[in-house]
Amino acid sequence: MTTVHLKKGRERALENRHPWIFGGAIARVEGQAQPGDLVRIVDSAGRRLAVGYYNPHSQIAVRILTWDPDETPDEAFWRGRLDAAIARRASLPGLDDTTAYRLVHAESDGLPGLIVDRYSDWLVFQSLTAGIEQRKELLAHLLMELLAPQGIYERSDADVRPREGLTDAVGPLAGEMPPPQVAITEHGRRFLVDVLHGHKTGFYLDQRENRHSVARYCAGAEVLNAFGYTGAFGVYAGTAGAQRITNLDSSAEALAAAKEHMALNGIAPERVETVTGDAFRVLRTMRDQVRRFDVIILDPPKFAFSRAQVPSASRGYKDINLQALHLVRPGGILATFSCSGSVDESLFQKILFGASLDAGREVRILERLGQSADHPVSLFFPEGTYLKGFVCQVE
Ligand code: SAH
Repeated sequence: MTTVHLKKGRERALENRHPWIFGGAIARVEGQAQPGDLVRIVDSAGRRLAVGYYNPHSQIAVRILTWDPDETPDEAFWRGRLDAAIARRASLPGLDDTTAYRLVHAESDGLPGLIVDRYSDWLVFQSLTAGIEQRKELLAHLLMELLAPQGIYERSDADVRPREGLTDAVGPLAGEMPPPQVAITEHGRRFLVDVLHGHKTGFYLDQRENRHSVARYCAGAEVLNAFGYTGAFGVYAGTAGAQRITNLDSSAEALAAAKEHMALNGIAPERVETVTGDAFRVLRTMRDQVRRFDVIILDPPKFAFSRAQVPSASRGYKDINLQALHLVRPGGILATFSCSGSVDESLFQKILFGASLDAGREVRILERLGQSADHPVSLFFPEGTYLKGFVCQVE
């Protein structure tokens, strides 16, 4: 196996079990390694530390697979890791009456670079790194063996792929081709997911528990579901007894699916309003029209893709939250989210504070929300935290 020698003092991160080695920590590479190949890591004194996979094209040059330097990750290794990730889900609460959830959450499940989501009888596979790319046929074969899905579809079209020197890879990986709409159940609500073209792997599975939490505030309420995508929060609000739900999104296609989802879950069309447009503008127009809501949900897309984008992202979050605060009835609820990993919870709270000052509204945090339990965060890998949200009461 090729050996990666670390610079003096740079073994520290590994001793803390952090699974990434940046290119700058490497003194030299002894032997040949192609992107994705296995490498053994040694410190400057030659002490053997771990085994991972290598990618010279990525800033993250090595991702650690095992802290046993004598272990060779072979088929049995990968099967064991997949099996463990699947077993972890079996004991999770909140997955009853639910057929769509994340089975493998990359680094946090000891499988760096790999995402696997289950949608009823189908799996969606996302490879984020060269190391997974090189092994995707093997991994698909093992997943077929372990779970016997009808098929596995690949959606390796995430924004991080170019940083690994990879282009998009999309298409069937194993078994049958999924239908254009896969029927799923989430907490007893029904949805039809387009795993071929939908966002991420088709659905925002990470918001599942938060939809449940927010629904508890919606009985009898007029609800604005901004950045509503295919209406998932709206469906929860409607089934929880909301009087009226406005789904707002810039995508007409997503809103067409939202309408279908509302009907599929027995929410009468008279209770549903659909608004297509840019939320930043629509919320301003609604203020001019003196429209008010009892509950507003704000779930915008990722605004910051890197640390450098945090200032502009912060301005975006502040603006959209400020606009929403103007529209909440006194005593009403703002459920606000950010899925930008580089905007952490304390910064997001400061942004919200700025918006509340400018809006002249007193805001109290009632609940702090995060990603669903099937998207766990390993303490060795705090970078796995990305979704955060606040349920706030607005006076
Ligand atoms: N809450 C959704 C997920 C939202 S994803 C759920 O639980 O399923 C973010 C959504 O914001 C996407 O549907 C995208 O089309 C929409 N979007 C992006 N920019 C927008 C903008 N400026 N105005 C309105 N919608 C926008």
